[in-house]
Amino acid sequence: MTEVAQHAGEQEGRTPPDTPKAPLRRLWEYARPHSGALLLGGFLSFLGGAAGLAQPLVAKLVIDALAQDQTLTRPLLLLGVLLLTGALVSALGAYVLGRTGESVVLTVRRQLLTRLLRLRVGAVDRLKPGDLVSRLTSDTTLLRSVVTNSLTNVVTGSLLLIGGVVLMAVMDAILFGVTMAVLVVVGLVMGVVLPRISRATVAGQAAVGEMGALLERLFGAFRTVKASGAERHEGERLETAAHTAWRKGVQVAAWSALSGTVAGFAVNIAFLAVLGMGGVRVAAGELEVSSLIAFLLLLFYLMEPLAMLVQAATEMQSGLAAVHRIDEVATLEREEVDAAPESPTGSNGPATVAFADVTFRYAPDAPMVHHGVTFEAPSGGLTALVGPSGAGKTTVFSLLERFYDATSGAVLLDGVDVRNWPLPALRAAIGYVEQDAPVLDGTLRQNLVMAAPQATAEEIDAVVRTARLEELVARLPDGLDSAIGHRGTTISGGERQRVAIARALLRRPRLLLMDEATSQLDAANETALKQVMLDAARETSVMVVAHRLSTVTSADRIVVMEAGRVRAVGTHAELVATDELYRDLAASQLLTAS
Ligand code: ADP
Ligand code: MG
Repeated sequence: MTEVAQHAGEQEGRTPPDTPKAPLRRLWEYARPHSGALLLGGFLSFLGGAAGLAQPLVAKLVIDALAQDQTLTRPLLLLGVLLLTGALVSALGAYVLGRTGESVVLTVRRQLLTRLLRLRVGAVDRLKPGDLVSRLTSDTTLLRSVVTNSLTNVVTGSLLLIGGVVLMAVMDAILFGVTMAVLVVVGLVMGVVLPRISRATVAGQAAVGEMGALLERLFGAFRTVKASGAERHEGERLETAAHTAWRKGVQVAAWSALSGTVAGFAVNIAFLAVLGMGGVRVAAGELEVSSLIAFLLLLFYLMEPLAMLVQAATEMQSGLAAVHRIDEVATLEREEVDAAPESPTGSNGPATVAFADVTFRYAPDAPMVHHGVTFEAPSGGLTALVGPSGAGKTTVFSLLERFYDATSGAVLLDGVDVRNWPLPALRAAIGYVEQDAPVLDGTLRQNLVMAAPQATAEEIDAVVRTARLEELVARLPDGLDSAIGHRGTTISGGERQRVAIARALLRRPRLLLMDEATSQLDAANETALKQVMLDAARETSVMVVAHRLSTVTSADRIVVMEAGRVRAVGTHAELVATDELYRDLAASQLLTAS
C-alpha cells in the first residue's frame, strides 16, 4: 500500500497526499487534541503511583518510632490516609485515561472515514476492501490501549522510576550502585526484545488484514465458490492467514513473557544483592536497619513502575504498528472537495464535450489505454460511443468524471479543461450511469434521491415518468417505498438501468453519461430504454456507450473507437457506407437485437 501512495504521488495536478510520518509522531498528532485530558489522567495516575512510592518512607517512620518507643498512631494514620488517597486518585486517573483513549479512537475513525469517502477512484482500485475494514476496525482499536495505558504508563513509569532511583541514591550510594547495575541489564534485554515484538506485531496485523481481504473475496463470489466446490481451497487460504496471525501472536507472547520475566527476575536479584551487601554493612555499623528495610521496600515498589514500563513499551509496539497501517490509508491520494461548487462557465444548458489528443494509462507501469483520442460532442442530442470491448469507451467516461486524469492532452467540458473545474461543480454537471449500475440496499425512493436528497415529490414523479418507471412503481407492493436490492424485491436488469438513469436525471445533469449494459434486454425493456434516452437527449447532452443497434441508429452522431483511438465519426447511415469496422460491428457481435 505504501507503493500505492507513491504511485499516486508521482502523478501531477492532484492533491498531494500527506507524507507518511514516523509512527510515533503520527501517534502524537492523534493524541495532541486530547493532550489536556491525557495530562490530567497521567498526572492523577502519577500521583496514585507516587503515594505508593511514599509508603516505604512512612514505613521507615513507623520502624524508627518503634525503636524509640513512641506511639504508632500518627504514622499509621498517615499511612492509611496515603493509601486511601492514592487508591482514589488512581481510580480517577484510570477513568480519565480510558475515556480519552475512546475519544482518540473516535477522532481517528472519523478522520479515516472522511478520508476514505474522499479517496480518488484510482487509489481505491488498488485497495482490498477487506483489508481496509480491518484497518478501520481492529487497528484503530489497538490505538486505544496505546493512548490510555502505554503513553501515560511510559511517562508515569519513567517518572516513578526516576523518583525511586533518586530516593535510593540519596539513601545509600553503594546499594544504589548495585541496583543500577541490575536495571541496566533489564534495559539491554528490552533493547533486544522490543524490535522483535514490533516486527511480529506488524506481521500479525497484516495477516488479520489479509484474512479480511480473503473473506471479502469469498463472500463477493459465494455462489461461484460453492458451485465450483472451491470451499476447501478458499478455506485453506483463510486458514493460512489465521495461522500466520496466531504464529505472530505467539511470538509476541513469547517475547513479552521473556521481557516481563527478566524484569521481575532482575528486581529479585537486586533484592538479594542489596540484602546481602546491606546486611554486611548493617553488621559493620555503617547502615541503619530502618534504612536497609526502607531501601528494600523501595526496591519492591519500583517493581511496579518497572513492570509498567516494560509492558507499556511492549504494547506501544503494537500501537505503533497500527498507526503505521492506519497511516498508509490516511495518506492515500484524495480528491479536493472544498472548492466552490460554481461551474467555471456559468452556462446552464446542455454541455459540450471535447477530447483533444488524449493519452491515458491507468498506472505509470501500465500500458497506454488511450493513444490520442480526439472527438467533439456538441451541445444537446445523443452521442453514441461504439467499438470492440477494451477499446477504451468506459475510460472516456472515467476521464470526464475525473475519476482519473489524462496522461497528456485535454478533456474539455464546455470548452474548459475538466482539471480546471471545481470537482463538485463537475460532478454536479454530469450524471453518470455505470455499466450494470448497482441498486443499493434500501427503498426505490432512497435509491433515487441518494444524489439529490432535497428532491421534491414532483421532481421524483417527473423522473419516474422520464425513465419509464411508472409500471415498476405500480407493480411494487409499496410503490416508491418498496425495498429493492438484496433484501427487497428483485428488479430486472432493464429496470435497474432505468432506476440508475432516473437517479442521474434527478440531479438535472447538463451531460448524461450512460454505459449501456451488455446483457440482452427483452424487447419491451429495450424500447423503453431507447425512449428514455431520446427523451433525456431533448433536455440535455447524452453520451452513451452503445451495444444495441436501436440505440445507435437513433443517435445524432456515433464515435467509433478501436484500440484507444477514434476511428470514425458519423451517423449510422454514413458509417455503414464508409467504415468497415462499424459495418462489421453492426452486422455482428456488438450491436445486438437488430
Ligand atoms: P471498453 O469500455 O471499451 O470495453 P475500457 O475503457 O473499460 O474499455 O478499458 C480499456 C482498457 O483499459 C482495457 O484494456 C482494460 O483492461 C483497461 N482498464 C480498464 N479499467 C482499468 C482499471 N481500473 N485499471 C487498469 N486498467 C483498466
Ligand atoms: Mg466498457
